[in-house]
Amino acid sequence: MNKYVVSIDFGGTIIKLGLINPSGKIILRSQIFTKNFYADKQKLINTLIGQIFNLLEEKKIIKKQVSGIGIGLPGLIDPQKGKVCFLPNVPGWRNIFLKKIIEEKTTIRTFIDNDVNMMALGEWKYGAGKGYQNLICMTLGTGVGGGLILNNKLYRGEGFAAGEIGHIPLNEHGPGCNCGGQACFERYVGNKILQEKAARIFKNKKITLEEVFELAKKDNTRAIAFWEETGAHIGRALIGVVNLLNPRLIVIGGGISRSYCFMASTISNIIKENCMKTQGAMIKVVRAQLGNDAALLGAFVLVNESI
Ligand SMILES: [Zn+2]
Repeated sequence: MNKYVVSIDFGGTIIKLGLINPSGKIILRSQIFTKNFYADKQKLINTLIGQIFNLLEEKKIIKKQVSGIGIGLPGLIDPQKGKVCFLPNVPGWRNIFLKKIIEEKTTIRTFIDNDVNMMALGEWKYGAGKGYQNLICMTLGTGVGGGLILNNKLYRGEGFAAGEIGHIPLNEHGPGCNCGGQACFERYVGNKILQEKAARIFKNKKITLEEVFELAKKDNTRAIAFWEETGAHIGRALIGVVNLLNPRLIVIGGGISRSYCFMASTISNIIKENCMKTQGAMIKVVRAQLGNDAALLGAFVLVNESI
């Protein structure tokens, strides 16, 4: 039987908490600004635990009614050992046995995983991927991540590092990437890269991607071309993924997915034209549905699938 779950979406800027009722509805929320705690991770963990208890107390939920705590984190996570191996955007977070720490202090079972995996679980059970057995979730932000649901199960890989769609090389000679690779997909469609590109195209250093989206809505041809070219990079990166894994669905989320309407046909056309026949004929690409709540709902799914 499902019970309440405390879900946590641990971001580099903000940590979102949600109390989720047995039917999967977020009934109470709170948040912590991660940056306020960069200097002291113990203080951050204590604050997090304080907020977990606050959520339960406010709704008068006792521990017996809670099936677990689920936490999605932005980095390499070992869900079996409950270990945060490394968070690239949160200083000092390396080799922390977070599951054990939270369980000892709360006496509530705790499960941790990568945040993009959480998003994939959320979209699969409650969002755009409902009812699909094989799907890929891609999130477009500062980084580009991927979560794989294969045969109705989250696929994590041998070292829990599967799904790095952002580090698929688009060609042989492109720009270097933080990962050590070259011409990674992320180097073409990561938010910062796109912002710099927009600044050059529109000769305006301060232009935001939001504004390029608004311009496209007003039929600005350069803005429309900007999103179509971004869509072309996305389509190119997905050809190999579709050929390799033969999924039924690709769900695209993250900040710039707002501009999905200007990229959709380019992405689909490139995939259909370039993929192998069988894979290309059955693939569908859609925009994510859950927005900022995907990871919170995914944490709910993770807890319920784990116990
Ligand atoms: Zn890379």
